[in-house]
Amino acid sequence: MVKVNSVLGPINTSDFGYTLAHEHIMVNSAGIQQTFPELIDRQGSIEQSVKDLSEAHKNGLRTIVDLTTHDLGRDIRLIEEVSQRSGVQVIACTGTWLDIPRAFTSWAQGPENIAPLYVREINEGIERTGIKAGIIKVASDGKEVTSGEKIVLQAAAIAHKETGVPISTHTSAQGNIGEQQLEILIEEGVDPKCIYIGHSNDNDDIDYLLSLLNKGVWLGLDRYPGGYHVGTPKWERRTEVAKQLIDAGFSHRIMLAHDWSVILDNDSTPPWRLERLNDNPHHYLFIDRVVIPRLRELGVSGEAIKQMMVSNTQAFFETK
Ligand SMILES: [Zn+2]
Repeated sequence: MVKVNSVLGPINTSDFGYTLAHEHIMVNSAGIQQTFPELIDRQGSIEQSVKDLSEAHKNGLRTIVDLTTHDLGRDIRLIEEVSQRSGVQVIACTGTWLDIPRAFTSWAQGPENIAPLYVREINEGIERTGIKAGIIKVASDGKEVTSGEKIVLQAAAIAHKETGVPISTHTSAQGNIGEQQLEILIEEGVDPKCIYIGHSNDNDDIDYLLSLLNKGVWLGLDRYPGGYHVGTPKWERRTEVAKQLIDAGFSHRIMLAHDWSVILDNDSTPPWRLERLNDNPHHYLFIDRVVIPRLRELGVSGEAIKQMMVSNTQAFFETK
């Protein structure tokens, strides 16, 4: 058992319960809330998040990992309030997504100058709130890790080595970007067992997924129901792939999640949100209500499901 910082303070990994390892509450862009607040219905988003997460809590959800970084418009007080009111434990992150600030790539010059920023969010807290990050997020998209994304990966590695906090990645479905991320992180001295390669179920190439697992990482099959991005698999195919990986003996290294986010703009329900709700009316409960029953039909054991939804996230956070 290890203590992990949630937005409401330290929690024991043994108290994680049913966990979704890659979600969001509200996603936007850095600075929008301060500069153009009319674009976000902050209070409406809080109320909707409390409603959705309370419903999920009633159905057994206990913990989510919220991978919303500063450049995704992370609002740490919003996350805190939603966790308090819904009863769902939330682990917040430091790190950077794809909107890498110019300061990181030009005048900050080098990962050794970025890493202390992440370390401060882990050890002291985010934006002087005292709310501490429990995980480091990095992101790489497209077919190649860009020079800016590489700086973020290297900075994450330094911050990880200093704090012991694990690393969670965003990948795109294209190419073998997870392997490239892994190579850079290993080169910087990170043990694969402290790395979670996310959005891996946007890619249904079994050889690629198995090669990552064979290198010792955790695999996030964390886009459900999926199919938003052209050419990526629908939930049925994603579930078949999960079954294949389980059959290959990896139920102890896989985590399932949605990459869901609750966000309203000031027109209250924008068309893209209606579209997403149409695809996924169950929000944080799609896996519980649709995927797990299907996995059972396919013959997956209760033990394997418990590993993917409960014990693996604990073990991932316990790894040093
Ligand atoms: Zn995400």
